[in-house]
Amino acid sequence: MNDISNTLMNIYQQLGIRDAVYQYGESFLRQLAPRFAEIDQTAEYNQLKILQAMQKNRVSDTHFAATTGYGYNDLGRDTLEQVYADIFHTEAALVRPQLTCGTHALAIALFSNLRPGDELLSPVGKPYDTLESVIGIQEAMGSLKEYGISYRQVDLLEDGSFDYPAIEKAIQEKTKLVTIQRSKGYQTRPTLSVQRIGELIAFIKKCKPSVLCMVDNCYGEFVEPIEPSDVGADMVVGSLIKNPGGGLAPIGGYICGKKVCIEQAAYRLSAPGLGKEVGASLGLNQSFYQGLFLAPTVVAGALKGAIFAANLYENLGFRVIPNGTESRHDIIQAIEFGCPEGVIAFCKGIQAAAPVDSFVVPEPWAMPGYDSDVIMAAGAFVQGSSIELSADGPMKPPYAVYFQGGLTWYHAKLGILKSLQQMVQEGLVQINPVVIH
Ligand SMILES: *Cc1c(COP(=O)(O)O)cnc(C)c1O
Repeated sequence: MNDISNTLMNIYQQLGIRDAVYQYGESFLRQLAPRFAEIDQTAEYNQLKILQAMQKNRVSDTHFAATTGYGYNDLGRDTLEQVYADIFHTEAALVRPQLTCGTHALAIALFSNLRPGDELLSPVGKPYDTLESVIGIQEAMGSLKEYGISYRQVDLLEDGSFDYPAIEKAIQEKTKLVTIQRSKGYQTRPTLSVQRIGELIAFIKKCKPSVLCMVDNCYGEFVEPIEPSDVGADMVVGSLIKNPGGGLAPIGGYICGKKVCIEQAAYRLSAPGLGKEVGASLGLNQSFYQGLFLAPTVVAGALKGAIFAANLYENLGFRVIPNGTESRHDIIQAIEFGCPEGVIAFCKGIQAAAPVDSFVVPEPWAMPGYDSDVIMAAGAFVQGSSIELSADGPMKPPYAVYFQGGLTWYHAKLGILKSLQQMVQEGLVQINPVVIH
């Protein structure tokens, strides 16, 4: 063993990782090297794609200047939107701190492109929790339903495939917009690859060419070399405190798509007659540009963490979704522990590895909108940022923990090793000594 590996083991030890746990982790890393190389290659491609867009648009330090008030002629903001449009290969983009989160961006995209009497269709089952209120699946003040916009849903088939006959039947005179969620979110269905999304969009457009296809792209950006807008989506929507903000954006959302869709969204976000012209960037442009620039490597780190954890815990006998060998289309990893102690120990480990609030011990608690106690681990620079290493789990069967993020692979690795160390210390798992050759 060379000097640096001894030094490394030393510092892991100081951070509370015992030798057995460290070696157990290392034994998987050797095996995972080819997959990590593939992830690095995707990151390399996306990095170059972003650089190319920034160079083409002649991004300059003048674009980082703050605007205030109405924000007329905010060159930094307008150029950033062109950079996003070029990366996603769309006609236009809306990238704003005034889009306060992913749900808000999705709500703006929906409310602006739908009119009373129109129908919204989800052909991939129930959408993300927060959209239930937006749509009116759950009664909520100001929902689409309240505005006379109806909703229809076609669930995925048992095996996760699209129910094409039911989708064809569901597309009717009133159907104006189809919403497709790329990530599984906190469900157990498989995440959709961009290619599968493309197949679905092609089918929908064949049934009714005038229908708009929107993709909820949250957690999916830069995981693959192509995005849903490369396979026919009219709009892709996401949050800047997830993948594309690269951990630096302190707030924000984006909508990229057809010019007419983006104009509708801009008039809804500000006001009819104002649209994209207003909306000061308040000095946030630099973190938006720089975060976007870093996003491909940040996403790569998060992906490596997810795959590392999947392999470690799968080998210990837990059900992991996706499994250790499946191809990845988002950064979320679920692990079923089958008992509350497992979920709690895992979250304690993640928290203890954080750069911020590492000294805090997470505990299950009642949370609004949940029907059981929930435990959450997050020690983030940006509050609620889930591109940073974070985990949460509802305290009910199957006692699964969902975790995602990690601004660097090394941090994700420490978090996962800390979680395993915690499990070992509490006697929840046993790892056999690994023989190193
Ligand atoms: C996070 C997420 C959202 C909502 O984003 P927020 O920023 O939390 O409002 C919507 N859809 C999916 C799939 C998500 O992962």
